[in-house]
Amino acid sequence: MTAHEADRAPRTAAPVHTDKVNLLGLTRPQMEEFFLAMGEKKFRAQQVLKWIHHHQADDFEQMTDVGKALREKLARVAEIRGPKVLHEGISRDGTRKWVFEADNGGAVETVFIPDGRRGTLCVSSQVGCAVDCSFCSTGKQGFQRDMTSAEIIGQVWQASRAFGPRKNLGEHPITNVVMMGMGEPMLNYEPVLSAMRIMRDDLGYGISKRRITLSTSGVVPKIDQLSRDLDVSLAVSLHAPNDELRNELVPLNRKYPLADLMAACKRYSDAITHRHNTITMEYVMLRDVNDKPEHARQLVKLLKGIPVKVNLIPFNPFPHAGYERSRKADILAFHKFLNDNGVLTTVRTTRGDDIDAACGQLVGEVKDRTRRSERWQASIFHRTEQPDSNAAPAQ
Ligand code: SAH
Ligand code: SF4
Repeated sequence: MTAHEADRAPRTAAPVHTDKVNLLGLTRPQMEEFFLAMGEKKFRAQQVLKWIHHHQADDFEQMTDVGKALREKLARVAEIRGPKVLHEGISRDGTRKWVFEADNGGAVETVFIPDGRRGTLCVSSQVGCAVDCSFCSTGKQGFQRDMTSAEIIGQVWQASRAFGPRKNLGEHPITNVVMMGMGEPMLNYEPVLSAMRIMRDDLGYGISKRRITLSTSGVVPKIDQLSRDLDVSLAVSLHAPNDELRNELVPLNRKYPLADLMAACKRYSDAITHRHNTITMEYVMLRDVNDKPEHARQLVKLLKGIPVKVNLIPFNPFPHAGYERSRKADILAFHKFLNDNGVLTTVRTTRGDDIDAACGQLVGEVKDRTRRSERWQASIFHRTEQPDSNAAPAQ
């Protein structure tokens, strides 16, 4: 698939298991509508949302403040169904990874990264991805299908369940969510938006807009739409300071070139209503490809006038990637040049490397399998042997 086709890729609807409405994916207004349509009172929506997202209930029988007759009625027409956990891994550094079943045989992944008092959950939005960035393992598997809002918020719900019941919102281990897992969230816009609304809602997870980050490879019209719908924090996968190189690394650039993307970033930052209007620019460090002093110089020029923070991501290799991670000295020099020239820059530490949970290692079902990923697949799908890592299955 070409970049031009990427944002009008044919959509395969998520397979439906039952005719029941999965309440997990409903926002507050949608839940209210659901109860009104049943001839029930609107306030039921609040009760049920709390049971689902605060108490992680998956059975109407648990809902003790809902009368028996209504519980039975609900059980006939609705369900609370999260994505099925196929595998859970815990890294030496505390990073946790869940592999969830995607109905067509593929898998999606969710990663939790603890960092002091902050706990960030990295959530997937699509099975595979059509954008086909040249350095990304998800891109290599192609696009399989969009995830539903229930599957997207279901990752937060399942991760919450793994941490056990919470006493109040403030104590929750998941303090931040980044839409940086598999898929391009802007190409599955409505379900991602619904899921983020549930993350925001106090009856959901009560996470502030600033602590929810959507990462995009640069779907310009959707950046504008998001600024109107829900101005969460924005991260842009930049990766190159000029169109020629970005066309090669992020093929979507041919459709939305850098000048358009930078203008959209500026508009987004101007539109943000919360205090922090900085946009994060992600820049994967590829040895001898985009890590030269001239690239750093071009980057400083490109970013002038836009409130940004640059996050340098040392490339995480995967089999047959065709790229190498930049040399440490080159990363440090790049970092220093940007900071010295007034561009606030950080270098991302690689987390969860030993359980393939680092950025770009969310391999799922890469077609181009090597022995290593075959063993990993086997451990997930058949539990016959362990991955060649320290990943410890949950049970
Ligand atoms: N599709 C969205 C979000 C998911 S990718 C996007 O591209 O922004 C999350 C981040 O991981 C992106 O910045 C992406 O470019 C980066 N990434 C992908 N493959 C990587 C790899 N092998 N090593 C390091 N970062 C990678
Ligand atoms: Fe898709 Fe993001 Fe990977 Fe590019 S980097 S292929 S947009 S998931």
